[in-house]
Amino acid sequence: MILKEGEVIFEVPDKLTITKKDEVFYNPRMKTCRDLSIVIVQAFLNLYHKVDKCYICDALAGSGIRGLRYAKEIEFSGDLQVFLNDINPKAYEKIINNAKMNKIENIKVFNEDANTFLSKHFRFFNIIDLDPFGSPSPYIDQAIRALVTKNGLLCITATDTAALCGRAKKSCLRKYLAYPLFGRDCHEFALRVLVGYVMRMATKYEISLKPVFCHATDHYVRVYLVTDRGAKRSDKTFEMLGYVKDVNGIKIIKKFEEGYEKGFSGPLYIGNLYDKTLVDEALKIAEERKLNERILKILNAISEEAEINQVGCFDTHQLGKILKISVPPIKNIINKLKELGFKATVTHYNPKGIKTNATLKDVIDVMYRC
Ligand code: SAM
Repeated sequence: MILKEGEVIFEVPDKLTITKKDEVFYNPRMKTCRDLSIVIVQAFLNLYHKVDKCYICDALAGSGIRGLRYAKEIEFSGDLQVFLNDINPKAYEKIINNAKMNKIENIKVFNEDANTFLSKHFRFFNIIDLDPFGSPSPYIDQAIRALVTKNGLLCITATDTAALCGRAKKSCLRKYLAYPLFGRDCHEFALRVLVGYVMRMATKYEISLKPVFCHATDHYVRVYLVTDRGAKRSDKTFEMLGYVKDVNGIKIIKKFEEGYEKGFSGPLYIGNLYDKTLVDEALKIAEERKLNERILKILNAISEEAEINQVGCFDTHQLGKILKISVPPIKNIINKLKELGFKATVTHYNPKGIKTNATLKDVIDVMYRC
């Protein structure tokens, strides 16, 4: 069947079960993820990319929709080339046909194992996108090696949320060398575990990675990190890592150097997950391109979250249960907190969660008063 997504038309097999067993994989539910990828990559290029060539790698390309959209929808005045790769020979053929259908010529298509492909492109790509089935962990090392060491953008999807969100603890330990945090804000901690893991993997190459955008949407989490080089910068990575314990919604944070203590989750990233300037540039691009309400809602929420460096959130329903009070509308709580001079917003990943620079006591006082 022929479909259209963004500015690209493409063909996928008639019978799609949206499982690994499909002849060629395409999941229409990931359109939101791909729309966001386009605006984040565009924002990154507008703000931070200062050279006149841009090589983008879609290492696990499936039908090719993601990479083909990069090739067609990203505006770049220099040489933009997209390298699409998939181990499945049928996907490889589909990508070539889909590119022809759209008359897209600034692409190259490969049919290799992603790690083999990446290992042949040492420090070559400006942007690498990893969008695998399940965990990206097996591809992280080679992706870091294949990225330019300064101002390279690493974009990673993980759909193994059972592991990252804490329902499958052993799996998280196996794949991310970290204990996950299961709770009301587990999606944020999934992002923090993934970011922390990728940052740790980069330090041995004396590369530091900084998260600039992340989101937890539907059944997956997605993170974007920018490279910088140097041993000293890499050493600073460990200052941004820590262990976290949730006690009735309050987060107790220990620095990485203090060591692991039983009952804590981590190591995970405890710094700011966003570059506010990049988020706002992405929002501006999304508005200009008239992307749908859902994209704008996610970007607007994240634009506010980006200003608040709180680890986790206050879940109003959890607090209501503990305090044995009925929960006022979240908008009222947020407006009251803002009236009092605090920053406050609903998190993009939990409609009952508030991110704020107010203390728990302030939030509880406001909940009683609303
Ligand atoms: N990025 C695609 C999109 O946005 O529609 C979806 C990719 S799909 C989730 C994962 C793809 O990885 C599948 O097409 C599969 O054939 C491919 N794949 C699995 N193992 C691989 C490997 N070791 N090397 C390269 N590709 C692989």
